[in-house]
Amino acid sequence: MTAIDSTATFIESLRPAGSKRSGKRDLIVNVFLRQQGHLTADDLVDLIRREDERISRATIYRTLQWMVDAGIARKVDFGEGRFRFEHSYRHPRHFHLICKACNRSFEFLSSDIEALIEEVATARSFAPRQSVLQIHGTCDACQTGRPPLADGGVTEHLFARDALRIAIATERSGLEFYSRAARLTKDARGRRVFEKLAEEEKEHLGTLEARYGELLQQDPQLESRPTFLFFKGAANGLFAAGAEQLARGVNDREALMIGIKCERGSHRFFKRYGEKFEDSEGKKIFLEFADEERAHLELLIREYRSLVDRQRRRRTKPPGRPRRQTHA
Ligand SMILES: [Zn+2]
Ligand SMILES: [Zn+2]
Repeated sequence: MTAIDSTATFIESLRPAGSKRSGKRDLIVNVFLRQQGHLTADDLVDLIRREDERISRATIYRTLQWMVDAGIARKVDFGEGRFRFEHSYRHPRHFHLICKACNRSFEFLSSDIEALIEEVATARSFAPRQSVLQIHGTCDACQTGRPPLADGGVTEHLFARDALRIAIATERSGLEFYSRAARLTKDARGRRVFEKLAEEEKEHLGTLEARYGELLQQDPQLESRPTFLFFKGAANGLFAAGAEQLARGVNDREALMIGIKCERGSHRFFKRYGEKFEDSEGKKIFLEFADEERAHLELLIREYRSLVDRQRRRRTKPPGRPRRQTHA
């Protein structure tokens, strides 16, 4: 399905059953949803007039308000004395950097900021409906005279790009961790578990990289666009720390326990942030990844328990009897 097809389907889904089509409204909504960035009502009037000059300014204003009420558009106030509008269809909630010199705005998302807002609201028993964060100042291009960074990409793609980068970095450090653990583990079954996990990480890594490649095909400039999604601590740090612990020399049980800690932390990280995001490709990537990490966690816990069991049985064999029983 192309972006335009899915937009048309989306618009169709907004119309109450049995209501008649409104050609003008459809046209206005379609043109609006094709735009990136933050339009004033007058920007939209200009765009619509290029397609059909018979549509009145009043109709466009009314439709814009209808889109805000229907949740297709968000109204933003950058302190310019007039509102701007951005579409919210496949466009996750975000914060803005606003340049006072060139009036351009740039979008970003920080889950740490959102978590903090939630924390404050909860502590004050406040039910938050909307939070707006704007950073006003001067953009890099206006400060230095250098050409602007390749901004203006589709937010949905930037979000997916950053989510994939985080997942890929975690997958890589997971692979490194399990390969090392497999080399160090003496218990044959434990070693096979680590080998299996290393294989899985390799396979997932391939899938994620293919997805990243597809995204790049949709937007060849994607890699040079500024970061959209910010995190204080990402999950790949967990596996890197785990690999360091392994290097200090651990036994099989400890190796499994370190793996459990890494996977648990990673699962929590992706689930916690994934649940916060609004519906988007980025959210999907995080939640799918969280599920994979949970499956790994469960596998490691099962292995840890059976290793403990095997070791206990070996220890509690009554003395004097042969170590190996042949009637197994
Ligand atoms: Zn600027
Ligand atoms: Zn925006």
